[in-house]
Amino acid sequence: MQFSETAFEQLRPGIWRAVASPASVTIGLVAGDGGALLIDTGSSPSQGARLREAAEDVAGVPLVAVVVTHAHFDHYYGLAAFDDLPTYGHESLIDALAADHVEQEAAELGFATTELKPPNRPLSLARMVDLGGRHAEIVHFGRGHTAGDLVVIVPEAEVIFTGDLLEQGAPPAMGPDCFLKEWPAALDGVLGLVNEHTLLVPGHGEPFDRVFAFTQRAEISSVYGQAEYLVSQGVAAADALAAGEWQFDDDTITAVLPIVYAQLAAEGKLPGRRLRLL
Ligand SMILES: [Zn+2]
Repeated sequence: MQFSETAFEQLRPGIWRAVASPASVTIGLVAGDGGALLIDTGSSPSQGARLREAAEDVAGVPLVAVVVTHAHFDHYYGLAAFDDLPTYGHESLIDALAADHVEQEAAELGFATTELKPPNRPLSLARMVDLGGRHAEIVHFGRGHTAGDLVVIVPEAEVIFTGDLLEQGAPPAMGPDCFLKEWPAALDGVLGLVNEHTLLVPGHGEPFDRVFAFTQRAEISSVYGQAEYLVSQGVAAADALAAGEWQFDDDTITAVLPIVYAQLAAEGKLPGRRLRLL
């Protein structure tokens, strides 16, 4: 596995981002007069350590806190490099480390699961971090991309780090652990805070403005809505790609159809059975 990190690039005064591979994840950095907050940590403890050094260099003030936006490896597994600081994450991140796939992911990334650390300041709803002259708000607006998505709002700079609730350059990742029905409502919490000056910084891709964010919210919402409609019309998952009107490319929809059909089935919504009369 090839690990690399770009240099931190300034987005606005006191706000930077770097990109850490293998997964091209955004690493955010917000500095005040007295301290800095790092947002997401890369894919391994050693990558986290490199990001920590680079972040403190560019911020010019010490890191005073770190936040992980959700449980996926590229955001989370670097967190162990920061355990002497207050580290924030949604409370669901603690159990997420015990999931079956973590051991395999860690092996592929070249370390043991025992090297990983959960957030030492787990939160359920919201927390404020004072950086001196500015503050950051860490908020869980509900389930969406995962069960434990957090966004980081810097009101004074009009910047919001969205984690993977929004992505640029590729469709948002709608995996088996996402909550497609609830995702738009979580985004509404974010979008209620934006104005024409707001810069939204996604978990993957380039920063964007509110128009892009509103559009992607509608696209995400359409996946569940379209699938729900097709189920009500008795269309099976295998026929849904051809039968539906989709806002994402065929590969994305092909991958998400079994997931959204399973989520609809769990709600008791199943394609009606057509009676064979002859
Ligand atoms: Zn993710």
